[in-house]
Amino acid sequence: MSVDIAGDIKLSKLEESFHSLLTQSGDDPSREGVLDTPKRASKAFSFLTSGYHQNLEKIVGKAVFPCVNDGMVVVKDIEFYSLCEHHILPFFGSVSVGYLPKDKVIGLSKIPRIVDMYARRLQIQEQLGLQIAQAINLVIDTHGVAVVVKAQHMCMSMRGVQKQGTCMTSSTMLGGFRDNLATRQEFLGLV
Ligand code: ZN
Repeated sequence: MSVDIAGDIKLSKLEESFHSLLTQSGDDPSREGVLDTPKRASKAFSFLTSGYHQNLEKIVGKAVFPCVNDGMVVVKDIEFYSLCEHHILPFFGSVSVGYLPKDKVIGLSKIPRIVDMYARRLQIQEQLGLQIAQAINLVIDTHGVAVVVKAQHMCMSMRGVQKQGTCMTSSTMLGGFRDNLATRQEFLGLV
């Protein structure tokens, strides 16, 4: 859908919003430097929120494999970038995932893709961890999933309390990771 703003420039709804954002900020959208900004910003924003248009089934596909070894699987330090749902400002950091397989494992490259699918939305850190854990449980039915998210929040460093480099850590423990202290400690020791 496109909206006519300046008579001849056709802007999509999202571009129109960024055009309006420029005006509302006190800038001049017809200024040369920002002429294409609504278009570029829309493209960037669409990418950063592309997780809304993905689904777990498609991402995982056939990458679920039988496994007889029920030892803990850990994937550490998966980089992510997200936007906080309160301020639409970036928060970013790393996610570490552990799970206890029952009889299936998930293709290793799929875990970062699951992380991206949930990160590329408006999010809060705690919810991001829970969604990743639940998704893995849904795909392979485990004895437990653990997710630790470490992140810096731009809404804390650029505004608000303006504290640089503050890292927030949150964790989600399901199944064996929640019920068994030794399992939890083994995981936390690894990450
Ligand atoms: Zn925020």
